[in-house]
Amino acid sequence: MESHLSRKLLGPLGAAGWLTSLRRQEKLHLLLVAALGTLVFNAALVSSAWAGAPPIDRKVYFGDTHAHSAYSSDAFGFGNRLPPDTAYRLARGDKVKHVGNYSVQLKSPLDFFMLTDHAEMIGIAQIASDPSTILYQTSLGEDLRDPDQKAGGARFLNALQTAAGSGVAPDGYSNESTRTIWQALVELAELYNDPGHFTTFAAFEWSSMPNGENLHRNVIFRDAQKVPDLPFSAMDSTKPEDLWTYLEKQRARGNDNLAIPHNGNMSNGRMFQPVDSWGAPISAEYAMRRMENEPLFEMMQLKGTSETMPSFAPEDEFADFELLPFSLYTWQRVEQQKTSYVREAYKSGLRFQETIGANPFKFGLEGGGDDHGSTHTWEEFNYHGGHAVLDSTPKDRMTGTIPLEGAAKNLNARMSAGGITGVWADGNNREAIFAAMRRKETFASSGVKIAPRFFAGWDFPPDLTAQTNWVRKAYATGVPMGGDLEPQSAQQAASTSPSFAVSALRDPNSAPLQRIQIIKGWTKNGEMMEKVYDVACSDGAKVDPNTHRCPANGAEVNLKTCAISSDKGSAALAATWKDPDFDPSLPAFYYVRVLENPVCRWSTRDAIALGVPPPDVVAPVIQERVWTSPIWYTPSREKLGGRKLVRQ
Ligand SMILES: [Zn+2]
Ligand SMILES: [Zn+2]
Repeated sequence: MESHLSRKLLGPLGAAGWLTSLRRQEKLHLLLVAALGTLVFNAALVSSAWAGAPPIDRKVYFGDTHAHSAYSSDAFGFGNRLPPDTAYRLARGDKVKHVGNYSVQLKSPLDFFMLTDHAEMIGIAQIASDPSTILYQTSLGEDLRDPDQKAGGARFLNALQTAAGSGVAPDGYSNESTRTIWQALVELAELYNDPGHFTTFAAFEWSSMPNGENLHRNVIFRDAQKVPDLPFSAMDSTKPEDLWTYLEKQRARGNDNLAIPHNGNMSNGRMFQPVDSWGAPISAEYAMRRMENEPLFEMMQLKGTSETMPSFAPEDEFADFELLPFSLYTWQRVEQQKTSYVREAYKSGLRFQETIGANPFKFGLEGGGDDHGSTHTWEEFNYHGGHAVLDSTPKDRMTGTIPLEGAAKNLNARMSAGGITGVWADGNNREAIFAAMRRKETFASSGVKIAPRFFAGWDFPPDLTAQTNWVRKAYATGVPMGGDLEPQSAQQAASTSPSFAVSALRDPNSAPLQRIQIIKGWTKNGEMMEKVYDVACSDGAKVDPNTHRCPANGAEVNLKTCAISSDKGSAALAATWKDPDFDPSLPAFYYVRVLENPVCRWSTRDAIALGVPPPDVVAPVIQERVWTSPIWYTPSREKLGGRKLVRQ
């Protein structure tokens, strides 16, 4: 890889003449697929067990696994001219210049970061902006030079959408273009990787959306030095199974990787549907393959939360959180399908385990930004938009919409400040963070640095979390988030129900904690059920044993100043909880949700700055939260009636 490429990429875009040499190089064939031997699932990769010394020293690290620079064609169409370099520097804590021409800086920088530019025609806008290229002379180049950046950008995006739909890139854009841009991006990931301080990964986004139904996945490589020559784009295939084949071939060569789907909420039911891409019912092989390739799911980002909908979970009064039940195609509200949402997928996964012997939806949780401005300011009090010039000022964020005909009003105000990911890892380096992701010892955050712990075991003492070194004991005798609670022997199982040890520390830059909840789902005779249990309450309060809820703690937000109650909420919460409704014969999952006291939503802060009322399309306050990966319980084969069961 030639270093002059990254030097050019690091500098201001548009003026560089480096594309001239790129243009001269001859077109190459698509080299994604080389003949390889039979693929074998690596069982060790999906095991939740740890080997070697107890992992008591695991620390929490926070990162963003989803970000776009001007090298994503849509971002460029939104007026983003900031190179990938800006995104890295902001994430690690530098002060950088926003597209809106003001400085931004995170109050609390990230520990790790992945730039996931769209693989489809990656870098095409940079090429079309270079006067020495063929693309510059085409209407695409003209659109990008339109002094009316929003109008020109919209035409550029429409043209690319048509090209992407047809699967044929415009004249002047070749595989060699992709290869050159991708190599430069990989080199940048290497440049910014600083083990022990700030870890970066080579990554891209595969942006499949057949009929506008979102199936996007972010692809992450453990080792940037081993990545393939070309990313895999939706123009190669819109089927996730074909993406998995690409990933499996790389793993067979020793290039470990994973794909993280996002925005189930915009998939029109397609994300967790019970059939494969050809309409055939999900098989055990499909389930194993999917979970080998996609052990995590992005629970939240700028374009909303994919946990559940209030109508699917009427007893969950906290389900209405940063929802965006819209079509990614029309940007209109569409009727929501259960197969778009994580909690429903977890429940149907249990049923699949009973019927086909394997669970296709046994994934852990993480969060991302999906910022398209090279500047993901995910802190609620520090949000500066997510779509470059479309929402770079408070006024645009209050009133703007994306430039598509028929799009919903006030779309910009509906955007979230975006999520981040937490991992419990053995160190801040690629190997340790990737390993944490593989074993699903991860959690999603709505953009706060709450640190949650979650363990399950059969022999936890009732006061476990009150003991010193309790985490050591929990690791030694239980399993952490993302793991499997193995069934007990027949005689033990008759009288025991499992215990769950949970704790959380507040984010010092956000609000105090309000409650810890455990969300349980299970199946019985083919029926799928769920229940939300509060297990720890702030301010020393106790959970009501009948309603399983904490009393309201009275925390308030002043909507004129955004000041919050200074005497309500807790800095830390912990509990050891026993499932009161446990049935050892029924498969179940449990995940933790930790809620803060309410704070002003970013849109309320913008409204205050502008002296206008907060937008009426969103709530004025939000309760920031984290969601841990679940712990699954699968009954023994005997309890399942001797049916076939694949341990995952
Ligand atoms: Zn996407
Ligand atoms: Zn994205």
